[in-house]
Amino acid sequence: MLLRQAVRMHVASVGVTKFCFLFSLAFCGLLLLLIPTLRPLARQVELPQPRAYVRPAQMPPPQLAVAPVSQAHAVAATELHRRRNNTTAVWTDSEGAAFSTRPGPRDQLEEQDVFIAVKTTRKYHKSRLELLIQTWVSRAKEQTFIFTDGEDKELRLRTGVNIINTNCSAAHTRQALCCKMSVEYDKFIESRKKWFCHVDDDNYVILPSLHRLLSSFHHSQDVYLGRPSLDHPIEAAERVKSDGSVSVRFWFATGGAGFCISRGLALKMSPWASLGNFISTAEKIRLPDDCTVGYIIEALLEVTLTHSHLFHSHLENLQRLPGVSVLEQVTLSYGGLENRRNVVSVGGAFTLAEDPTRFKTIHCLLYPHTAWCPQTVAPSKP
Ligand code: UDP
Ligand code: MN
Repeated sequence: MLLRQAVRMHVASVGVTKFCFLFSLAFCGLLLLLIPTLRPLARQVELPQPRAYVRPAQMPPPQLAVAPVSQAHAVAATELHRRRNNTTAVWTDSEGAAFSTRPGPRDQLEEQDVFIAVKTTRKYHKSRLELLIQTWVSRAKEQTFIFTDGEDKELRLRTGVNIINTNCSAAHTRQALCCKMSVEYDKFIESRKKWFCHVDDDNYVILPSLHRLLSSFHHSQDVYLGRPSLDHPIEAAERVKSDGSVSVRFWFATGGAGFCISRGLALKMSPWASLGNFISTAEKIRLPDDCTVGYIIEALLEVTLTHSHLFHSHLENLQRLPGVSVLEQVTLSYGGLENRRNVVSVGGAFTLAEDPTRFKTIHCLLYPHTAWCPQTVAPSKP
């Protein structure tokens, strides 16, 4: 009896096992049949959709090329940035597609972020400074600081410009000029502004161009911008880092054309430039103020001058500047007594007799609604 029951249970369990086995087989077969149909479905979900291939040439060039034309002009003006290894890189917009972007970040620059120092002397307040105050300085009163060597309360009260009496000597000596540069530097550091630009009292600053140029850099980068007056580096005896038995070669931006220094770099100059140190550095190397700036930056800090053709002094032939590009420059100048005819050739509101420096004419082209500009500008007075 017991045996019969055990045999029955065995038969039943064998039946269940057989059924399970057959069912598994059928299920696997079904899966095998379904795999080809399931696979495309899965791929449709996982794979990205095919995209049309865009040739690099058809893509818009980055940053600068999509900027407004006027901005492109200023930045694209041929600038030579000498690299440490003495090779040169040219930033140019020639042929459009070859437009290269300046490396590194750019600044969200406000007009008041730029500190403009004008070097002058008491005897030029009437003959030179008044013209600047009437023209470009009037457009940048808050950010412009006039560094002079004598009191002129009347000028300050009448015009409302920032005039700083440096108490430096009024002589045209290296010591006196370096004294002014030293005060300019300290006032800039105090101001907390992002850029330091220095100009002479025979420079016209084209503010929109200056703003565009500086905006293409970042004030925290090491930037020293200007035009060398020589076509080769200057050589001086190294008396700061050594005893003067070795010489050092460096470029400097000529002060007569104006130059700019980023705040980041200016701060690094501090050991040799702040609180009177500029004067002792200049004394050690026995060079003028602008050369000393170049020496500190290139020779001591090993930062290269970015050569810019947008800055102009009266050491060059200003008449050669093409009329169409004059308003795109950053600074202009005019020949002094020795060469009265060395001025930019622009026609407009005033004759050469009425405006011998051409600064008023330039100003009226830039800001035609200025009260003293003729409201209908004659086509072209020479
Ligand atoms: N300057 C000065 N003290 C002087 C003579 C000139 O501070 O005794 C300034 C002048 O105001 C100008 C700069 O030095 O900003 C250059 O002077 P200038 O244009 O007469 O000479 P150059 O351009 O030929 O060096
Ligand atoms: Mn000059």
